[in-house]
Amino acid sequence: MTRVIEALRAALGTGAVLIGADIGPRHRSDMSMTGRHLPKALIRPRNTDEVAAALKICDTYGQSVVPQGGLTGLAGGANAGPDDIALSLDLLSGIEELDAEAATLTVLAGTPLERAQMAASEQGFLLPLDLGSRGSAQVGGNLATNAGGNRVIRYGMARAQVLGLEAVLADGTVLSSLNKMLKNNAGFDLKQLFIGSEGTLGIITRVVFRLRPLPRSTSTAFCALPSFEAVLALLRRAETDLGGPSAFEVMWPDFYRFVSGHKMTGAQPLRPDHPFYVLIEHQGNDAANDPARFQSLLEAALEEGVLLDAVIAQTEKEAQSFWKVREGYALDTLPEIVNFDVSLAVGRIGAFAEDCRARLAARWPDGQFFFYGHIGDSNLHITTSVSYAAGEGMHDVDEIVYACVRDFAGSVSAEHGIGTLKRDYLSYSRSAAEIDVMRRLKAALDPKGILNPGKVI
Ligand code: ZN
Repeated sequence: MTRVIEALRAALGTGAVLIGADIGPRHRSDMSMTGRHLPKALIRPRNTDEVAAALKICDTYGQSVVPQGGLTGLAGGANAGPDDIALSLDLLSGIEELDAEAATLTVLAGTPLERAQMAASEQGFLLPLDLGSRGSAQVGGNLATNAGGNRVIRYGMARAQVLGLEAVLADGTVLSSLNKMLKNNAGFDLKQLFIGSEGTLGIITRVVFRLRPLPRSTSTAFCALPSFEAVLALLRRAETDLGGPSAFEVMWPDFYRFVSGHKMTGAQPLRPDHPFYVLIEHQGNDAANDPARFQSLLEAALEEGVLLDAVIAQTEKEAQSFWKVREGYALDTLPEIVNFDVSLAVGRIGAFAEDCRARLAARWPDGQFFFYGHIGDSNLHITTSVSYAAGEGMHDVDEIVYACVRDFAGSVSAEHGIGTLKRDYLSYSRSAAEIDVMRRLKAALDPKGILNPGKVI
């Protein structure tokens, strides 16, 4: 046993520092499929003081530490190598306070997102952060990656929903900024350093979320449109007439044909031969009038030729079946799939998708390429399925997609983060000066480079 593990066991207790077979299979990899490793040790602190004590010891010994939450990340940010110590936030779980006057919810970082959402809704509030992995993703990881999800168009990314944060620095310093105020310009907004930096600058231990009122009405429709210009026209109309949709999800026709025709989906809301599909959702506070306003928006769009067809969900179950199409889990049944999460100025997404598809098809004429995403948030997802020839690898498809993103001045990561998966492409979306400032911040806060080394930069 190495001296760092002895020191950690002396400080945290033997049961909180696991090695070898005692480390369960869950902690060997996140969902990114960027490799499975048994970490050197797994530490399970029970509170902020123990996180601080553990980091102080690791810093003294120059021991690398990889923070782990729900392990649902898709970019490799939570993957630990054989020389790293994994630090699990699993035991820092629980709701600390709901302040109804301030409309805030204070939770520990290891709390599953869904549990935090339920704590808010039980008191009549909405915690708008929402994503498919809500049941296992933890709020600390959601913030470390600045997660996006389905309601960004209305409420912003994770960072827009946080008022306060507590984080532990590499040297064990506890930085407690548990602010509940909407306005606070007293110097630098330090919490934002830790949101979206994927555990490279500090480990988040507590979060103060900003809550909103629970919506009283939800209207959902599945629409068919003639062109990407029509998609943009519907988005603009929804913004002006409805005060903004709560979700605006676009599907290109190959995606819709494959997913809606698949038995895993079990729903085909509209005929599969239209050029574009949109799932539009509006949530409001006027239960008596919202559904009628939603319907008249769609009727006007139909009259103008912006819509070719549309179906409004009559029940919550029907709305869920629309979402099931958009979630597109049937794509996972295809061979050799690679998923992308990129961002582009909204007006250029249509042209980007055409160009990117053409570049991919030129290289792999038999490949299948699916475009879909949270287009109202400028976020496009792409799933590719190609049979690689000998000597080709998954990175060949990466290079084509990311080069196209660079040519359209987009971002190689919209909502999943950089991790290790996109690290080599960071310079496609960030200037040398920007990356240099990231390195300088890293050196200032973590001079020995123990926190999540090799991730992001
Ligand atoms: Zn997404």
